[in-house]
Amino acid sequence: MNPQESELEYPFSEQLPATGGSIEVAPGVRWIRMGLPFALNHVNLWLLEDGDGWTVVDCGIATDDTRAAWEQVFANELGGRPVTRVIATHCHPDHVGLAAWLCERWQAPLWMTVGEYGFARMMAAGLPGADGPAMIPHFRRHGLTDAGKLAELEGRKSYYPTLVPKVPEQFVRLSDTQPVRIGAHDWQVITGFGHSPEHAALYCAALGVLVSGDMVLPRISTNTSVFAIEPEADAVGQFLGSLQKFLPLAADTLVLPSHGKPFRGLHARIAQLQQHHAERLAEVQDACATPQSAADIVPLMFKRELDMHQLTFAMGEALAHLHRLWQSGELRRMESADGVLRFVRAMRH
Ligand SMILES: [Zn+2]
Repeated sequence: MNPQESELEYPFSEQLPATGGSIEVAPGVRWIRMGLPFALNHVNLWLLEDGDGWTVVDCGIATDDTRAAWEQVFANELGGRPVTRVIATHCHPDHVGLAAWLCERWQAPLWMTVGEYGFARMMAAGLPGADGPAMIPHFRRHGLTDAGKLAELEGRKSYYPTLVPKVPEQFVRLSDTQPVRIGAHDWQVITGFGHSPEHAALYCAALGVLVSGDMVLPRISTNTSVFAIEPEADAVGQFLGSLQKFLPLAADTLVLPSHGKPFRGLHARIAQLQQHHAERLAEVQDACATPQSAADIVPLMFKRELDMHQLTFAMGEALAHLHRLWQSGELRRMESADGVLRFVRAMRH
C-alpha cells in the first residue's frame, strides 16, 4: 500500500472476487472482476439487483476468457434471474467490449450517455480520425519521430475493434438530469469529462454507493489524454472540473471503482488527485523554460520503460498537461521548422 492509499479505507480488505464469482458490497450490489491482458490486468464490473432481474454495469473486453467468466456468473451469481439491462460507464474496451454480446444474449437494452455511445460506434467502425492510423500524424506532430515506434503504431490499427467487435445498434440515453430507477432505488448519473467523451458515474444516496467508473480510482490516477480527433482538447482541465461534481457526495460514500478495490475516502482521494495534477503541471511548466514537445515531456512524467500501449497513453497524458497550461495562458505553443508543436513558458507581465 502506498502512503496515499493509507488515507483510504478498504472495507473488504484484501478480498477479491474469484473469476466467475462475486462479492456483495452493499445490499443488492455485487462486485465482479474480469481479467485484462494489459499492465492494468483487471476491470471491476457490478451487478445491481433490479426487481426481477439484474442490471449489469460494464462488460469486460471481448475475449473467450471474459465470456467464459460471464457464463459462470450467469450460472452461479444471478439466483436464476435474468440480466435485464446493461449500463456502460464509458466507451473504453474494458467497459463496453462485450456489451453487444450481453445485450443479445439476454435481449437487454444498452444504457449509455450519447457521447460515449457515439464514440463507441465510431471507434468500433474504425472511422477515419477515430481509428489507429489517426494517431500517427497526431503523435508525429507532437514529437514522436522514432521510425520503429511509428511502425509499431501502424501495426496496431485495429486495436479497438479487436476488443470491441460490435456495439449494439440502439441505446437508451443516460443523462445528468434523469435519475435511473434500479430496483428499489434511484441512481443519479454524474457525467465526467477528460478521461472519455461523456463518462457516466452512478450515485445512489440511499445505499451510500458511488459506481465511479474510471473517474475516481483509489491507486492509479485516471488517464487524461488528448486524442487525434480532438487535437486541442483540455483533458486535464475537464477532468479536474469534473472532480468537483463529486464533492457534494456524502463523506462516507462507498466508492466502487473500475480498477482497484472498493474504498471509503472519496474526498481524500479527490484532494490527492488535485494535488497530483498540480504537481505534474508545475513539473511540466518548469520543463518548458525551453521549448518542449509532448514526446520530450513523456520521460519527465513517466520515469520507466513504457510498452507501446503505455506509450500511447503517456503521449496523450503529456499533451493533456501541456494543453492545460497552454489553455490557461502559462505556456504558448509554437510550430517548429520540423512541423513539431512545442510549448514554452509565456512571457508574463
Ligand atoms: Zn476508461
